[in-house]
Amino acid sequence: MHSKNYFIANWKMNGDAKDLQNISKVEKYLKMKKNIEDLECVFCLPFTLLGFAKSHFKNSQIKFGSQDLSCKTADYGAFTGSISAQMIKNLGCKYTILGHSEVRAEGDTDKLIDKKIRFAIQKKLKVILCVGESLKEFKNKKSFGKVKRQIYLALKNNRKSLNNITIAYEPIWSIGTGIVPNDDYLKNFFIKINDFVKKKFKKKIPILYGGSVSHKNISNFKKIDLCKGFLIGGASLKSKNFIDIIKNYYN
Ligand code: PEP
Repeated sequence: MHSKNYFIANWKMNGDAKDLQNISKVEKYLKMKKNIEDLECVFCLPFTLLGFAKSHFKNSQIKFGSQDLSCKTADYGAFTGSISAQMIKNLGCKYTILGHSEVRAEGDTDKLIDKKIRFAIQKKLKVILCVGESLKEFKNKKSFGKVKRQIYLALKNNRKSLNNITIAYEPIWSIGTGIVPNDDYLKNFFIKINDFVKKKFKKKIPILYGGSVSHKNISNFKKIDLCKGFLIGGASLKSKNFIDIIKNYYN
């Protein structure tokens, strides 16, 4: 059986209901395209759009996800401003992004991420776990140490759920900057992550890349065998850019 190739859009704090037409265009393109059965296309939208997406995209090949969820409880409660895993599930989501560097920067700790993973899995959501180092850590050759620690702390209490977790390696210095790590560096880094996960957890977990992915650089990543897909921020907002990434990948 082929493993999946993930193309995961992260809209961050962007988009209104009218912008869902971009997703309709992607959906139309995927329907037309025949030779990409292994493609898993997921749009992680702001909470405000997930309800619209649920009513708009019934029986679609496109799946939806949130960009975070509450660490308070998986269900309901007196937590002003929070959105729980159950609520996200009710909105028809299959996925959630957890541990994104922009959420970590707002105070999300490894401990909270561990809890959020548990809540997500309880509610049968698949987790895209983001990990990655800062520019300073990169310059000080601390990248792998940082990523290894983030992965270990996120997965050590969630060993039974590994089939429902995907790791997205996103160097923070690459997010939104147009700068991507060079091919050899990345290839080697993916091998190190894969070996670490295999050794610690006796399991192979799909590893994705995220950071300034575009239709111009996508073909470079094809050389990295262990890279099972992409988390795409800026270039996922407009259907043309997103479709061009898929086209250039499968060309
Ligand atoms: C991200 O924030 O997950 C991301 C990959 O952003 P961008 O593609 O804009 O670098």
